Amino acid sequence: MPQRMGYHKKPRPAKIKKVSRPLEKQLQLPLQPFFRQFEKKQHNYRWYHWFFAAVLFLALIVLATVLSSAYYHRQYSAAASNITIKVKEYTPVAPQTIEDIIDQQEIAESAPLPETSELNEVDVDEQNLSNEQVYDLYEEKLPEENHVAAAEEQVPPTDTKPSITIVIDDMGISTKRTKDISSLAYPITASFLTYANNLNEQIANSVASGQEIMAHLPMEPQVMQNFTAEMLTTSMSSTEVRETLRDMLDLFPHITAVNNHMGSKFTEDKFRMSVVMKELAKRNLIFLDSKTTSHSVGPEEAERYGVKLVERNVFLDNKDDFDYIMGQLRQTEEIARSKGYAIAIGHPKEQTYLALKAWLPTLEEKGIRLIPLSEMAKLSSNTPNE
Ligand SMILES: [Zn+2]
Repeated sequence: MPQRMGYHKKPRPAKIKKVSRPLEKQLQLPLQPFFRQFEKKQHNYRWYHWFFAAVLFLALIVLATVLSSAYYHRQYSAAASNITIKVKEYTPVAPQTIEDIIDQQEIAESAPLPETSELNEVDVDEQNLSNEQVYDLYEEKLPEENHVAAAEEQVPPTDTKPSITIVIDDMGISTKRTKDISSLAYPITASFLTYANNLNEQIANSVASGQEIMAHLPMEPQVMQNFTAEMLTTSMSSTEVRETLRDMLDLFPHITAVNNHMGSKFTEDKFRMSVVMKELAKRNLIFLDSKTTSHSVGPEEAERYGVKLVERNVFLDNKDDFDYIMGQLRQTEEIARSKGYAIAIGHPKEQTYLALKAWLPTLEEKGIRLIPLSEMAKLSSNTPNE
């Protein structure tokens, strides 16, 4: 091909034209090489790029799961340790009768009533709680030395065998464990909480096994920790105490006795306990003092109003432990042998049920009688120290 010599196209000098670029273009200019490189490479992803992206994504998911479960766990333990879910306000009601006015004055003189008080209600689904948590909710913590009350020296009656009464408190809350206790065909005494589920139905099971029924009345404890929907408190007026108590007792048509659920604070309140005793006297009911406090005015107020009083000797199951409960049952036997009779209180816990199931059939050969509380009340007296 012939060279086209001689013809030289002069390169035209580039025209320098001043172009004024918009500001954003000017700003993009220094970054253009970077973007260009990016655009070039974006279609060149290798398998390991995707692999690392997937690993990073999974790691983020795992981190999020761990953090959220830690958060919910904290929320849950906070809920279990400080149970303040509903708040209910009580305002003292104006006195209605002359009796009330006298009571009000008595109370006002020695213990001024607060204008209002707050009651925290427990509203916890027990299905989600462990054994320990359920019973932490329902019972008051007692000091170790309070688990066995001193047995008074007394000459045992010679004509009768040593007698024991076993009272099982807090019946009716855990349906399953109440059923266990109700299945024991022995004359144990079942104390049903006023706010038990399907009260009549559960009571019928106990009655069918030959058990005696009594009412377990919720009363205010010293430590404001666990509260029930309905409870006798030291901030109630005498009218409120009386009305609440009447409502509670009316739930149980055929009982001969009541005892206190918790109540380390309420049973120390002389005036409100006197309102309780007046009502128990009217209905001819026995009062079993659970002795959640050694300063309970139960005995003196019961005596004042002529209410038959019996006192608990042994708490069986402050530990939900089979061997411990068997030990407490042996202590109950010893008290019964030396004193003639003994009263032990337990709860519908799994180990209590198993211990009772093992222990109850041994009583006959030991020569010990198991009697319901109403019968025990005839044996013991209001003045056990005499
Ligand atoms: Zn109780």
